[in-house]
Amino acid sequence: MYERLKNDFRLSIMTLMATCATLGITPFALWRFVRGDWLVGFADSIIVTLIVGSVVYAWRTGNTRGPGLVIGITNCVGGTTVALVVGDATLFWLFPAFITCFFLTSAAVAVLLTLGSLTTLALFGDAYTDTQQMLTFSTTALVVSACAYVFARRNESQRAQLETLASMDPLTGVRNRRSLDEAVTAIMGEEHSDMSTGLVLIDLDHFKRVNDLHGHSTGDMVLRDFVGLLKSNIRRTDQLFRFGGEEFVLMLPDVNEERLRAALEHLLGVVRNSLEGPAGKITASFGAAILRPGESEKTWFNRADEALYAAKAQGRDRIVIAE
Ligand code: GH3
Ligand code: MG
Ligand code: MG
Repeated sequence: MYERLKNDFRLSIMTLMATCATLGITPFALWRFVRGDWLVGFADSIIVTLIVGSVVYAWRTGNTRGPGLVIGITNCVGGTTVALVVGDATLFWLFPAFITCFFLTSAAVAVLLTLGSLTTLALFGDAYTDTQQMLTFSTTALVVSACAYVFARRNESQRAQLETLASMDPLTGVRNRRSLDEAVTAIMGEEHSDMSTGLVLIDLDHFKRVNDLHGHSTGDMVLRDFVGLLKSNIRRTDQLFRFGGEEFVLMLPDVNEERLRAALEHLLGVVRNSLEGPAGKITASFGAAILRPGESEKTWFNRADEALYAAKAQGRDRIVIAE
């Protein structure tokens, strides 16, 4: 539970909201009912129920997008309604509502809710005692919301940057092994008919020599050229990953053996003709396996690995597709 709160920022904000709403609003709701103030008591109860319900849903499903939106809207609309009915004593509740909105929903929705709420309060009802209070509250709420907006955007872009860093290979710019695992898991969950997914292990031939004879940085350059060549000769739907060292994985969706062979013959030719190191041409070996119905990830990889091994054993610079 602590791990989930630590890793999921939106879920932690939502949980904090639910705790505060339960502890902070419930006594007020009860007090309103005791005083016979049914309308506000009812509004308070709806707010607490929606917030707590959404958080429970988010915890159970792991989906925070929908519940985040519900809580954001509930807070702003509920807070505004209560302020319109009760008056300026409840205005301060809107500050946490506005701030958290930027962490619970998209920036556009949060801006809309904040501006909508402030406009509604200014135009209707008796939320403010005088114009000065209206101007002070609106200005401070806008300043606080602007800060929340900047912080939320920064947070979001840093999260996206981290995600990219964690899934990319820094040398070649293709996705890394961690990303491959996610892609394979996604593919295993899909239905397959007569077309399936081809898994190809690609290994540069005698690459150690390039490093040994010309240095590691030359080797790095060859790796980047190799990836550039592959990337410009595969379909948009094919996915390329760096498996480690000078080994790469290519996943080709919707192929049968004939199509897979044609695609790989093309790549083999491109590498053979265009990949060059300081001492001349560099070639690659390809080992491939097409996912069989009901096959496990492990045997699928093993078959491709054995095919690559066979390609190397048969003399390199060739394609072997597993039976
Ligand atoms: P084979 O044809 O059997 O594949 O021979 P090989 O020399 O390519 O095979 P081996 O797996 O023994 O050598 C791989 C070499 O790749 C070892 C290492 O020097 C080099 N290598 C691995 N990662 C990198 C890298 O990031 N940069 C560079 N420059 N070299 C790397
Ligand atoms: Mg090699
Ligand atoms: Mg190797």
